[in-house]
Amino acid sequence: MKLLDNYGRIIKDLRLSVTPRCNLHCLYCHPLGWEQSEPPGTISVEDTRHFLRAMQLLGLESVRFTGGEPLVRKELPEMIAAAQELGIPDIAITTNGLLFKRKARELVAAGLKRINLSMDSVSPEVFKTMTRGGQVEKVWDAIETAWELGMGPVKINAVMIRGMNDGEVIPLASLSLDKPLEVRFLEYMHLDNSNPGLYQQRFIAGAETKARIEAHFGPLEKVDHDPTAPARVYKIPGAVGSLGFINPVAEPFCSKCSRLRLTSDKKIRPCLLTDLEMDIHWAFEAENPVEALVDAILLATDRKPAFGNTLPTLRERVMIGIGG
Ligand code: SAM
Repeated sequence: MKLLDNYGRIIKDLRLSVTPRCNLHCLYCHPLGWEQSEPPGTISVEDTRHFLRAMQLLGLESVRFTGGEPLVRKELPEMIAAAQELGIPDIAITTNGLLFKRKARELVAAGLKRINLSMDSVSPEVFKTMTRGGQVEKVWDAIETAWELGMGPVKINAVMIRGMNDGEVIPLASLSLDKPLEVRFLEYMHLDNSNPGLYQQRFIAGAETKARIEAHFGPLEKVDHDPTAPARVYKIPGAVGSLGFINPVAEPFCSKCSRLRLTSDKKIRPCLLTDLEMDIHWAFEAENPVEALVDAILLATDRKPAFGNTLPTLRERVMIGIGG
């Protein structure tokens, strides 16, 4: 069974946020005063199992657990195990990695296959400023742990923001020279309710980042990859790793979007860049939740818009509360 939306896109990838909490306070993502605990009604392990089963009946191929910070959710191993028991082929997390070294073995035993780590900077000082106090060494511990455990390609996500980490383009790209990493440069999206004028000053188009890398290393080589994936992937000639560019603002990839999001407060968000959300509490509480969730997912897919809104506008929710 394939889940098709009204524009012929196959919906096969799920981003599932397991908590609104995070143990870092990134300037562009985590507003001060944000949640310190899981509010009542946060998605449970049982809810996760039911939702994954419903998505699986509709052709789910991959799930990425996110947040908030997924590793602060103590039931994450059980949630991953639920995905594994159902036989979902691709099970990944997006994480800041701070707690990964401590939890990695349990997560891999539960069924975790891949990890995307957020690391906006190689420089300890820049990292500390952007995360309001984080230590980049902990991300390195996470990378090394993932390598030791033989996990699939380790991806690094860096959101590029002018005046914050634009001096980090070459150091970040250089990581791919001798390390098996896919270093991905993400365009900054207006999902933090910053002043639109300030946002525009801080925004850096992926093409500018790529041009700076090419000015330093010469022309990049294109790498074949999944055409529905958001990143365009390249290589510095002769490098061990690769570079990805995720340009949702300057070069939106809505026409190949294959994703749905479920927030930790049980709302389906059909499009990251549109405020539309569908509260589906009712389906989790139904007598037959899987059947009700299939109906809810079909309704939400029906409302998936053709395009997201890439302009800076006042958003109802910021990224930490949606699940990136
Ligand atoms: N805490 C985890 C982490 O740090 O990866 C998972 C949640 S975080 C919201 C997921 C991803 O969203 C991170 O890579 C983060 O950098 C990215 N992100 C957050 N706010 C963003 C924004 N305004 N524009 C682009 N990416 C953003």
